[in-house]
Amino acid sequence: MSAPPIDPDEHARADGRATHDGYHYEWHEEPAHWRSTPYGDPRQCRWTENRIRCGSAVRAELNRGRAGKDRWWGYCAAHLFGRLLHDGKVWSLRLVADEETP
Ligand SMILES: [Zn+2]
Repeated sequence: MSAPPIDPDEHARADGRATHDGYHYEWHEEPAHWRSTPYGDPRQCRWTENRIRCGSAVRAELNRGRAGKDRWWGYCAAHLFGRLLHDGKVWSLRLVADEETP
């Protein structure tokens, strides 16, 4: 499993995230509450803006369930809250202190 071939700091800037002296961004694979879904997922993206639903094809889903009850909400590749799909996995950015990795 390899991280996305996109510079994490560049992706963070494009996503409008702040940079901090002494820190950099790294990719990390999302824990179990995000997962990708196969091509052909018949659901539509649940992202809603100004009461207009995106409606694009779902490529990943977030478990919004509580108290042990699963409720998977699907989103398209453009609406993963800054996350990225790569190698069948959902990746997110993590801010890491420079000293932690050479
Ligand atoms: Zn969408």
